[in-house]
Amino acid sequence: MGIKLIIVGGVAGGATAAARARRVNEDAEIIVFERGEYISFANCGLPYYIGNVIKKRSHLLLATPRQFKNRYNIDVRIFSEVVGLNAKDKTVEIKNTATGEKYKESYDKLILSPGAEPIKPPLEGIELENIFHLRNVPDSDRIKKIVDERNPRRAVVVGGGFIGLEMAENLTDRGVKTTIVEMLDQVMPSLDYEMASMIHEHLEAKDVELEFKNSVKSFSKAGKQILVSTQKGRTIECDMVLLSVGIRPENSLAKQANLKIGPTGGIGVDNTMKTSDPNIYAVGDAVEVRDIVTGFPTLTALAGPANKQARIAADNALGRKSIFTGTLGTSVVKVFDMVLASTGINEKFLKKHDIPYLVSYTHSGSHAGYYPGATNTSIKILFSPGTGKVLGAQIVGQKGVDKRIDVLATAIRAKMTVFDLQELELAYAPPYSSAKDPINICGFVAANILKADMEIIHWSELEALQKNGEILIDLRTKFELNHEGKIDGALHIPIDELRSRLSELDKKKSYIPFCGIGYRGYVGHRILVQNGFNSRNLSGGFMTYKMAINKKQP
Ligand SMILES: Cc1cc2nc3c(=O)[nH]c(=O)nc-3n(C[C@H](O)[C@H](O)[C@H](O)COP(=O)(O)OP(=O)(O)OC[C@H]3O[C@@H](n4cnc5c(N)ncnc54)[C@H](O)[C@@H]3O)c2cc1C
Repeated sequence: MGIKLIIVGGVAGGATAAARARRVNEDAEIIVFERGEYISFANCGLPYYIGNVIKKRSHLLLATPRQFKNRYNIDVRIFSEVVGLNAKDKTVEIKNTATGEKYKESYDKLILSPGAEPIKPPLEGIELENIFHLRNVPDSDRIKKIVDERNPRRAVVVGGGFIGLEMAENLTDRGVKTTIVEMLDQVMPSLDYEMASMIHEHLEAKDVELEFKNSVKSFSKAGKQILVSTQKGRTIECDMVLLSVGIRPENSLAKQANLKIGPTGGIGVDNTMKTSDPNIYAVGDAVEVRDIVTGFPTLTALAGPANKQARIAADNALGRKSIFTGTLGTSVVKVFDMVLASTGINEKFLKKHDIPYLVSYTHSGSHAGYYPGATNTSIKILFSPGTGKVLGAQIVGQKGVDKRIDVLATAIRAKMTVFDLQELELAYAPPYSSAKDPINICGFVAANILKADMEIIHWSELEALQKNGEILIDLRTKFELNHEGKIDGALHIPIDELRSRLSELDKKKSYIPFCGIGYRGYVGHRILVQNGFNSRNLSGGFMTYKMAINKKQP
């Protein structure tokens, strides 16, 4: 018998590590302990199973212990919780969750992939019936049973992160009127406010109620209903509650074995996924890893990094040398007809850590405007003021958001600059893109900013600049003003009249030209500066302004 490898946790990281380990070493004895009934299930598919998009429960179950035995000769033990870890003796203690029986197993190498636990705030009434969280198949069974059998009319989703959003969509699609209660003034905290706010209107249009800057104080029962009382004094009556207020790394075994825990609460690992004990590796939601852009320690609860880390940990545990270089936290979420995606660092983080950056907003068609069905793609890109190195990006749109965030994630990993984005040769035919892809356009605009061909200001600065006497020039058509709205105090000079009306302007004053999305603002800016006027373009134009300012809740 070869080396004995034990793996704790049998889903994303654990199952991947086990299969990889077998492919690397045919002689190893490999045992996987999973405390639940299922291994290798599709956590990411659970909201869509509840929504009846995934019709068959069996489609969530990607592999069984028997399949693992047959194909990989791996001993998978379900209903087996590892309750003890003695790193000195190199043993784990296992409790059979069905019988209560306990026993020990020794190991040569151990991989921990225990995931994360949902945060359950200590609120009055939190243990009431029909208050759920969603982490695994039994959780989804419980929620689906209520939706299928009891015909609930109202639900409250606490927390507007990606699980909260996916559940709001799927519950709404099942006919359940849903309210999202969120402490912040936005959904999806990985995005900056003005980008996330682009879907607030969409959520409301789909009949999801948004209760921002509010949090739950307590839960109580009224007959069969749950009363959700909020800090702001509102009481929402509903049939069910989904708690999705975040997760924390499952680090209890690591603590028990005195392994190093990082400042984020994740299990500390080096770039081979080795913990502070030379025989123990850890992967997935439970570990703290390095952020690629900043080098800071971070937690990334995403399936992609968990799978990659698992392969790397298995390699290293079995004597190969593989390196995990870090994470960008690249993510994408569908919200009804819209898609939100982000990669790298957001502006909130850059600000908080005093990291110098520049921002640019662009809004481009998902494909050629003359081919039917093009939709808007809004991109926010953050880049270094010195080199133009891409630091982070966020995209909101309907079509092609996923492919464009993947291009930007690749660009960040390859340490590309905004100048490189101009040159990327991306696939184009009218149904898919334009000769200048939205990524190229975002590169052109950011490069213009760096080359000082275009000085810009942002929506957040506008109020103060107007108070300071700077004058907005709205370059849009009258039709656009009447249909899309205006910014108070702006002069209206349509772009095609600007050259002939320069005499109306004053060279001692400062102007902020703007249009719908920024391009005519840029053209206007070039006309103004080349005629001796002080000018700065409003980045992202009226579209960014409208989403950021008009939708802000008190
Ligand atoms: C509803 C939902 C939707 C998601 N959607 C996406 C998505 O769209 N995209 C994306 O990238 N990510 C998504 N994720 C996140 C992704 O699923 C996780 O990042 C990934 O599963 C983490 O892998 P892991 O192995 O660390 O943990 P998990 O896959 O959670 O596996 C951990 C397993 O360890 C077991 N375990 C824990 N402690 C012990 C113990 N002591 N003994 C034995 N077993 C133990 C647990 O029972 C669990 O089954 C989603 C997650 C959820 C819950």
